[in-house]
Amino acid sequence: MNNDQIWQAVLGEIELNLSKANFTTWFKNTFVSEFVDEKIIICVPNAFTKTWLETKYHEEIGKALENVLGSKLKTIIYKVDTKKNNPVNNILDRITFKKKREETEIEEVPSSINRFGLNSKYVFENFIVGKGNELAHAACQAVAHNPGKVYNPLFIYGGVGLGKTHLLQAIGNEVSKKTNKILYTSSENFTNDYIQSVKSGKAREFKDRYRNVDLLLIDDVQFMGGKDGTMQEFFHTFNELQQTDRQIILTSDKPPKLIPALEARLASRFESGMVVDVSQPDIETKIAILEKKAKEKNFFLEVEILNYIADNIKNNIRELEGALNKVIAFHEFNNTTPSIKTVKSILNDLLVSAQSRSLSPRDVLDAVANFYNISSKDLVGKGRKKELVWPRQISIYLMREEINTSYPTIGQEIGGRDHTTAMHAYNKICDEIKNKENEKIIQEIESIKQIIYSNPF
Ligand code: ADP
Ligand code: MG
Repeated sequence: MNNDQIWQAVLGEIELNLSKANFTTWFKNTFVSEFVDEKIIICVPNAFTKTWLETKYHEEIGKALENVLGSKLKTIIYKVDTKKNNPVNNILDRITFKKKREETEIEEVPSSINRFGLNSKYVFENFIVGKGNELAHAACQAVAHNPGKVYNPLFIYGGVGLGKTHLLQAIGNEVSKKTNKILYTSSENFTNDYIQSVKSGKAREFKDRYRNVDLLLIDDVQFMGGKDGTMQEFFHTFNELQQTDRQIILTSDKPPKLIPALEARLASRFESGMVVDVSQPDIETKIAILEKKAKEKNFFLEVEILNYIADNIKNNIRELEGALNKVIAFHEFNNTTPSIKTVKSILNDLLVSAQSRSLSPRDVLDAVANFYNISSKDLVGKGRKKELVWPRQISIYLMREEINTSYPTIGQEIGGRDHTTAMHAYNKICDEIKNKENEKIIQEIESIKQIIYSNPF
């Protein structure tokens, strides 16, 4: 990669996290003039931009550079490059600086978040239905049109970036057309709220607020596990709402029984309505999602290019969207028409940096232990209980599939067992998958892969 390509890739990353106004204001006319020995010089058009980047965006730039280059840079220097700049522009910049800043601040208010805390872009209309989410989608639609009547609660689980929050908020947005009594929150917020209310003697208000709604949406409920006071409070809130036919919808990265340290009575309540999962989309769904998102941004991509992106971005829909944004940013910035060649080179950076983070057997074991809620020690220990043997076999399968670990090494990693044990377990899981009788296995493996690849290692 040359300096320009590096910088384009970095801008692609940064753009994902900024509003368009902010991005244009601070990153227009920037470029890399020098990159040697872990030192990079970023040229900016004026002193204001320099100060702004140094104080506000330094960390973000550092992170994006690290992602693109695969390693952390020692020195990042910002320099005003007067050679390439027209001095008149600099003066103009200075005059309009204050104005721009005000505009920027207005832009930053997340105007698309409505009074229920729901993002108006998460609606059913722009949710693509395909293999992996069709059941979840149907259940969500049913609940949105008949809250409290069909499945209560509805519990949606699956790996990161697969559309759980989108579906949850789509229900909220749909129901908000008919009632105001909606509450959307994350389980972390619920916990904080509860703790605050207890501290400030406002437990009554807390109870009223949560028990007075027709629709309660709790995102990422897995974080409630282990928080005893919160679980107890939520148990009562839950019962009251359920008994009076008011709708509860929960999302989580795991099915209820596998949420670490979740009270058994809560887990069984969570299972008492309908439990649905979202899993990896197939290639057709991915293409449809890319097409839709590109269209929303008024950007056209050839089928061949859509295919290439869909085929190469494997982890989840959020990453798929990220890759698309990067492709769009690059071409808009350079004012060029996308070709399979340019797209390949942009995605190559993404894919190479993903691959260069090397995965170890330890990462697999940690993810498996985390998913099944057992200790890593037990996972590789001597125990022969079913609850341990199954995760152990899954670990073996994943080490083999994901990082090509040799059987003898796998044997060692799982507590000094013989390589034939590893071979046997690998073949057993392969057979189970081939038979496809048990969809649950595939879902479990996908969820664990999500954990493996979503953790920075
Ligand atoms: P999760 O909550 O499961 O981690 P999100 O709901 O935040 O995932 O989804 C990640 C991103 O992918 C969001 O921008 C969302 O709009 C998008 N997305 C996920 N699934 C779909 C889909 N089926 N159709 C369109 N966009 C989707
Ligand atoms: Mg989410």
